[in-house]
Amino acid sequence: MKRRRFLSHAVKSASATVCSHLVPPAFRASFFPQTPAPKTSSNNSARPQLALTLDDPTLTLGSILRWQEANSRILKAVSEKGVRAALFVCGMRVDEADGAKLLSAWDQAGHLICNHSYSHKFYGEQTSYADFAVDFLKNEKVIAPYHNRTALFRYPFLKEGDTADKRDRFRALLKERGYRVGHVTIDASDWYVSQHYTDRLSKQPKAPITPYRAYLIAHLLDRAAFYRQLALDVLGRDIRHTILMHFNPLNAFVLPEVMTAFEAAGWQWIDASLAFEDPVFRSEPKSLPAGESLIWALAKETGRFEGRLRYPGEDDVYEKPKMDALGL
Ligand SMILES: [Zn+2]
Repeated sequence: MKRRRFLSHAVKSASATVCSHLVPPAFRASFFPQTPAPKTSSNNSARPQLALTLDDPTLTLGSILRWQEANSRILKAVSEKGVRAALFVCGMRVDEADGAKLLSAWDQAGHLICNHSYSHKFYGEQTSYADFAVDFLKNEKVIAPYHNRTALFRYPFLKEGDTADKRDRFRALLKERGYRVGHVTIDASDWYVSQHYTDRLSKQPKAPITPYRAYLIAHLLDRAAFYRQLALDVLGRDIRHTILMHFNPLNAFVLPEVMTAFEAAGWQWIDASLAFEDPVFRSEPKSLPAGESLIWALAKETGRFEGRLRYPGEDDVYEKPKMDALGL
């Protein structure tokens, strides 16, 4: 879950070009068999739209709360908004009998069960293509039993390869296996805020949640506004967004308020399957190192937004001074 930092010297623009791979129509039709095709594939709604994508469900949440409680709280918050999310499953966190119970609850509620690799490897210079591929394939077995298993892959840490060769070889493997990338458009550091909250509780068990909730909501709304504007500037239209959040204690407690805050700010929650129908999710940015938010990568590829792009797009280093200043 936790991001690893990269030095800025690792940011290099890509000059390599590769053939674009066309997606056959039959492949597209087989993607979301339970979902009727939407009438429009991009967001023509007056309100900006986003879907919840939740990464790294786990049986181990520390001493704060048990996985069963976290699971039922999160599922309830999502179902109260009447939408279906996408759950990106990292096998090593759920590969036992209780893990199957956790995933079944999501599957039965109609959420997409997607692949987030087995071991959450960082696809940079420390991980070869072969090791990364084996780890992805290993996780297919973890999600295979579920009715709503969906062929979307999310790269751990949103890192899609440090060289053109590794990037393109893995993209080719995904296609061969019938997958698309489960891109994040609104990236954020919710994991870091939750980590601070649980650290605080371990020292001060009665510490109020309120300031952490307020920080998290402000952070997520700020990141959503940033990536929405960047998408408008890069693509000239409002896309259907996917926000990255995690299965963690803070989110388990405050997800209802988070979702309501987005509505109050003008956003509309939509099904993840509908969001991923937006044509933007078919793009394959050539930036290197590859990855980050899809919008970040598309902006990087143009070379026209350097002043607005930091690397990584989101990380603890950006939030730490602000949280420290607030005593969080
Ligand atoms: Zn993850």
